[in-house]
Amino acid sequence: MNAPIEINFDQLSAETISQLSSATEQIIVCLPDTKQVRKKVNSFKQDFTQKLSEYISSKSFSKLKENQVLTINFPESLATDRLLILKLPAKSNPTQLREAGGAIGANASEQLSKILIFSSDAEYFAEGVALRGYSFNRYKKPKKEKQVTPKQADIICLDAELSAKKYRHLACGVAGTFFTRDLVNEPANSLTTTEFASQLKDLEKHGVEVEVLEEQELAALGMNTLLAVGQASQSPSKVVTMKWKGQKGKPYAIIGKGVCFDTGGISLKPPKGMEKMTMDMAGAAVVAGVMKALAMAQSPVHVVGIVGLVENMPGGNAMRPGDIVKSLKGDTVEILNTDAEGRLVLADLLWHTQETHNPQWMINLATLTGAIMVSLGDKYAGLFSNNDELTQKFFISAGHTGEKAWRQPLDEAFDKQLDSRLADMKNIGGMYAGAITAAQFLQRFVKSTTPWIHLDIAGVAFPEKPGSLAPVGPSGWGVRTIFNLLNDGKNPLE
Ligand SMILES: [Zn+2]
Repeated sequence: MNAPIEINFDQLSAETISQLSSATEQIIVCLPDTKQVRKKVNSFKQDFTQKLSEYISSKSFSKLKENQVLTINFPESLATDRLLILKLPAKSNPTQLREAGGAIGANASEQLSKILIFSSDAEYFAEGVALRGYSFNRYKKPKKEKQVTPKQADIICLDAELSAKKYRHLACGVAGTFFTRDLVNEPANSLTTTEFASQLKDLEKHGVEVEVLEEQELAALGMNTLLAVGQASQSPSKVVTMKWKGQKGKPYAIIGKGVCFDTGGISLKPPKGMEKMTMDMAGAAVVAGVMKALAMAQSPVHVVGIVGLVENMPGGNAMRPGDIVKSLKGDTVEILNTDAEGRLVLADLLWHTQETHNPQWMINLATLTGAIMVSLGDKYAGLFSNNDELTQKFFISAGHTGEKAWRQPLDEAFDKQLDSRLADMKNIGGMYAGAITAAQFLQRFVKSTTPWIHLDIAGVAFPEKPGSLAPVGPSGWGVRTIFNLLNDGKNPLE
């Protein structure tokens, strides 16, 4: 398990500044290029600030763009052998501070660092440092030359007490995001359905109630569309329910697609890029990350997290194109393409969630369609919903965390594309609007009285290039936004 860098906050004062002249660690200073800040720096009248003042009055610094770094090796009259000066925007909002932190976290997380920041809201900067500092090296030999030291950074800032308090809460979202990224990074021969369930069972240590339903129980319940997906795999299908009871009353529900590996089944995928299908469980991993964050923060909210863990394999007893399967709801589905399996998993999960938990609202996450990547790339998740109020709340929350989504339509006209000659519906809707017809399929398993959001995260879950808050690989998109939404934008640890 990868742990985020530990961050301490110290108050900006004559005393903390005076220690910087003799500090041997790498020193990072983040400040905007403004008169006000130069005045503030000069007001300390110490060796360190005198030196700093020279550098930030230099041409090299004034030429820098926002979030660019001036590197000074062996700075004169200081004990450190490296001083980095990052230029902040003149007035930074949380998103900009997070990205500035990300620029530092990309390089500095493995070394003990002293960071001095001339800006309020340093907690968002810290969040960026921690998020971008993620790495997954479990399957590589450890590099000998690197010291094995606990990762730690000290941030000297304008209001250390307040930032520390706020960061304690943000850090839970970061830890949840790391858990999600770890799960998505694990290869499918390691993260089988059984191993996934056992990692979720470990959340009991944090106070989450965890229940695992096995194939026999799922069959007895009638979750046949979910079971059909995993029926040719050596890894048994499972449904895991995680409960965080921070409050009494009706729960909120978050639901995730957990296809541990997706070959496409009999409708086999082409070989090129198939290795990426280890990430087809990212929706379930986001649910797991949120549950961990809620428990760490002791959030006063009642949430159930439900994931369907299956593996979609070809084989002698695999589901075939043309098969007709009866869902838990009772509707029959004609399977025209066995690679459109995520919706079969979710159909039974959505119905089960409503029947068993009667949630106030439910949000599901799934790497559901390649079509959503055609429309939104890897920058925005596709959002589909039957409820404007919940959608608005989600967007407000996403605005705070900087995770992006774009609403897509649901419409009767698309729903018709799912009509089948033999069954109540088929599992694909034709060549066009594939992300929408997938969402229409899910909506057939959502009661009109249940506020619901479907997030198609096929693009954002695993961007092709490193982002400002994650190295290349899984992003953990959604954990922080849903965590923030469930906390109603509040910080219970404050
Ligand atoms: Zn598939």
